[in-house]
Amino acid sequence: MKARGSDEYPRSVISLAEARAHVLDRCPGPVVSEVPLAEARGLVTAAPVVATEAVPPFANTAMDGFAVRAADTAVPPVDLGIVGTLPAGVAPDVEVGVGEAIRIMTGAPMPPGADAVVEVERTSVSDDGSVVTVAVEVPVGNHVRSAGDDLRPGDEVVGAGTTLGPGHLGVLASIGVERVVVFRRLRVGVLSTGDELVDGSVPLMAGQIRDANRPALLGLLDEMGVVPVDLGRVADDEAAIAGALLGGVAGCDAVLTSGGVSMGDFDYVKVVLDRIGEMRWMQVAIRPAKPLAFGLVDGVPVFGLPGNPVSSMVSFELFARPALRAMSGHRGLDRPRVEAVVVGELRRRADGKVHFGRVVVEYRDGRYLAWSAGGQGSHQLAAMATATGLAILPDGDGMSDGDEVEVILLG
Ligand code: AMP
Ligand code: MG
Repeated sequence: MKARGSDEYPRSVISLAEARAHVLDRCPGPVVSEVPLAEARGLVTAAPVVATEAVPPFANTAMDGFAVRAADTAVPPVDLGIVGTLPAGVAPDVEVGVGEAIRIMTGAPMPPGADAVVEVERTSVSDDGSVVTVAVEVPVGNHVRSAGDDLRPGDEVVGAGTTLGPGHLGVLASIGVERVVVFRRLRVGVLSTGDELVDGSVPLMAGQIRDANRPALLGLLDEMGVVPVDLGRVADDEAAIAGALLGGVAGCDAVLTSGGVSMGDFDYVKVVLDRIGEMRWMQVAIRPAKPLAFGLVDGVPVFGLPGNPVSSMVSFELFARPALRAMSGHRGLDRPRVEAVVVGELRRRADGKVHFGRVVVEYRDGRYLAWSAGGQGSHQLAAMATATGLAILPDGDGMSDGDEVEVILLG
């Protein structure tokens, strides 16, 4: 194995904004595709959807009760002859004449002749079931849902650029939409690199650790609604890394690697990316997640994330997630941020970088509170797992109890 000196690579430190812009500028735009409605949740519409039919399609009752002529109830109580029963899903075949009523169930179409519904609670029925006594006067249209009350033909149901949620799936189904024009769901591969890595519960040999980054990154991808593709794990070997990367980009819209982008002698990911793609190796003025390699291999973005588990997750949040959201057609790329009050303290040292502290955030009594989630080392994944936010700690010595801090909300 050939060790490679890191001084062949540019080492000037750039700002988070510059690194992010570099990545976002180079990622391809979203691709339009048509998918079945059942596969569309979380995807972004590429075109508006216009209703071609009315919802509800016909006037129907909002209550169980009796369909009547409102004029017949002018002087209550009034006795009306029951001329039929109308459950939901049944076409009315009897007309409601003067002095008559039809027993009707929620959702059933309004029968001809009737113009109002009296809810069952305001009625009583004779022992033989032939006559209903209505106790109240009701206006025309009482408890009637008119046709097109929700949507009319020609209405825009969802605009272009809408992230389809469960409610959208329901409303689109309500107008008979079976397929939607959206931006394609991405497939994103995850590859771990490192001679020291093993999977599962096998006994660890000297120097070995278990691969934590692949499950975490696959989980982050799954959480954001892209298809995670497990590309496995390769050793610190140029040929193996190149083979896995080329295989990955052939079947994915983007690839994430972890490890091998630092200054070490066996950090081959950046070497390989340099050879097979157009890449840039960046040193970003942040902590954790200082090193980042980013490039296009066969036109597919490859994010060379750092190996330290917290760094790889934070780097994903700051670079990969917004880029993948842009590639999925989302307009908003970032997680929400809140101002929170520090509980305890969030210490750091001055080093010219922005630090992202792993914190627990809670909303209490009208304000957000944030406190340390635990060990802040870039290898301390336990605190990252507990964290619900990343506190943005500008250069300096950190925050004291009661200070206001800006926090990126995770999950
Ligand atoms: P590297 O960026 O390859 O120099 O790795 C930096 C640190 O992260 C080293 O301590 C590695 O052992 C560790 N590391 C790299 N990849 C993983 C992984 N997939 N899971 C857990 N730790 C990792
Ligand atoms: Mg390594």
